[in-house]
Amino acid sequence: MFPRPKGDRVFPQLNSFALQAPGFYFAAMIQPSMPTADQLYLLGADQEAFHQKAALAARARFGNQVFVRGVVEVSNFCRENCAYCGMRRSNRSLNRFRADYEQIAELLIHHRPASMTDVNIQAGEDPVAVREVVLPLIQTLRRETDLGISVCLGSLNHSMYDDLKQAGTSIYVIKFEIANPKMYAAMESPGQFDQRIANICYLAKTGWRISSGFIAGLPRQTTDDLLANFTLAAQLPIDGCSVSPFIPGEETLLANEPMASLDLTLNCMAALRLMRPDWVIPSVSALNLAGAGNGYRRGLRTGANLVTINLTPADFRENYLLYKRNRFIMTEDRILNAIAAEDLEPSSQSLADFYAAQKVNGTVTFTPQAAASA
Ligand code: SAH
Repeated sequence: MFPRPKGDRVFPQLNSFALQAPGFYFAAMIQPSMPTADQLYLLGADQEAFHQKAALAARARFGNQVFVRGVVEVSNFCRENCAYCGMRRSNRSLNRFRADYEQIAELLIHHRPASMTDVNIQAGEDPVAVREVVLPLIQTLRRETDLGISVCLGSLNHSMYDDLKQAGTSIYVIKFEIANPKMYAAMESPGQFDQRIANICYLAKTGWRISSGFIAGLPRQTTDDLLANFTLAAQLPIDGCSVSPFIPGEETLLANEPMASLDLTLNCMAALRLMRPDWVIPSVSALNLAGAGNGYRRGLRTGANLVTINLTPADFRENYLLYKRNRFIMTEDRILNAIAAEDLEPSSQSLADFYAAQKVNGTVTFTPQAAASA
């Protein structure tokens, strides 16, 4: 095991809105197997066995298939000021852009990689881009393709969430970021902690499928802070969860802080898989920054079952700045090679169809075999 930080025990406080949201009790009814502190610091043979157990849990549920989603980043305007994020509004050195929806639509309708079944439309927190770019893009894609559509657009007002759903998408990616409310506030994470949780509950209540997530290895994050992320995730009405390693962004307040440990991040991913074998858990591209060369593949080895091809046009990509300007870009080739090297294969069923095939009571009706022969 590697050394763990010391710290106070802090549990997330959920506000009353969150506790009343439908879906909340359902999520809480499942008795998930919660990680222990020791599991988060495993190394060597014990770590390998832990990851293998997690990978087996994923295979038992999803076979050897992983969902392949493309991501397009359509605006780097952001009204938030997260301490860790390069798109924070105080970063004056960033060239801000909004994509032209017709250009992105053309890309996705006529030039998308053959393996992708879903697209995730992502942006800084920018309501103008939602109106001018995202809504018409969703409407066009809905008309012209059978792509599953996810969005990752941050904390918006309810009517905007409703409009997005109306336009033809029903998967929202919204990380809770940090489960310790004090740390959430100190890091200036989006809006207020309670409001972020309330938004997740609103989305669930109005029929969205939700993928949330948290950041591992943030500066001064204690073991209890880390464990609180699992406690919160287990209580939320969500269908998937990501773990991103903290990457010190070049143009952020945390530029000089140490990067998250890859082992800690992977142990969190394995723990999450064992906590909820039924969840969709991505292998995030930042794993390759935290572990040069093999981080991504090691992510797949912890039971991740979603991969992301970056499709943002190159001229925009440089300024969609989460961490560093020289991001490691996951192309279709790299993704397919990583999947094949881990004895996995791309799912022919989209994530959207997978969710649609689930019964309302949460029973999974999807079988990879059925999807493959369809
Ligand atoms: N505005 C949207 C999403 C865009 S930012 C929203 O609020 O959800 C996408 C994600 O990048 C954030 O959720 C955050 O968790 C992650 N991120 C940003 N900077 C990061 C960093 N330095 N290290 C790790 N993750 C980071």
